[in-house]
Amino acid sequence: MPNVFNIQNFSTGDGRGIRTTIFMGGCNLHCPWCHNPECFANKKELSIDEIMKKVLHDIDFYEASGGGVTISGGEPLLRFNEFIEIAEKVKEKGINLTVDTALTVNIPDFDKLTSLVDTFLVDLKTADSDKLKYVIGGNFETYLSNLKELKKRNAEVIFRIPLIPDFNTNEKDIRPMADIINEFAYPASFHPFHRMGSSKYAELGMNYLYKDVPLLTNEEVKAIKQLYFASGVKEAEI
Ligand code: SF4
Repeated sequence: MPNVFNIQNFSTGDGRGIRTTIFMGGCNLHCPWCHNPECFANKKELSIDEIMKKVLHDIDFYEASGGGVTISGGEPLLRFNEFIEIAEKVKEKGINLTVDTALTVNIPDFDKLTSLVDTFLVDLKTADSDKLKYVIGGNFETYLSNLKELKKRNAEVIFRIPLIPDFNTNEKDIRPMADIINEFAYPASFHPFHRMGSSKYAELGMNYLYKDVPLLTNEEVKAIKQLYFASGVKEAEI
């Protein structure tokens, strides 16, 4: 049975239109700002019927709003077979499917994956392979190679850029990230750091390293986005 730690109806921040977001448990990374720490702590298995009951509850809203289902996490592609099981059921019902992934996992079957997923929301956290490795635990070569596989198959990809103060918001970080975005020619969406996950860390008895990190001001976010736009990056329409 798939490891799913939450299903959120009426979600509006995980793709186009009104969506149901399925959060799969487990992640191979450890971003210190992560706002879903429960993906590491709660192992909850739901049957595919239980998942689909929640998904189908809002099917009229997906059709009316151009929405659908987003599978997020954690890292949803980590348990590839479980992901495919859910994705197949969603697509059998003709529902639009988006996946929200950091794309730093080994993917066993790209043809299968791209035949099921309509839109890939792909995190771009840094273009610095050392930072990715030592701060987050990811492998940059795997990431780039996965992006190339998606490109080869003409997948629809939107880069999701988390704007993390002093991690990827300085000009020297932004330039190489903009280069990657331009190399692959996908649009990007921007997601300023927030501390909405703080209480979850407290409930789980986990230490939240970003609890005192100040939020970016609106002016700072605007200036960061401007640097991307000046490098030719296009903002995604979602
Ligand atoms: S990839 Fe996402 S779920 Fe995994 S640790 Fe980073 S922010 Fe959390």
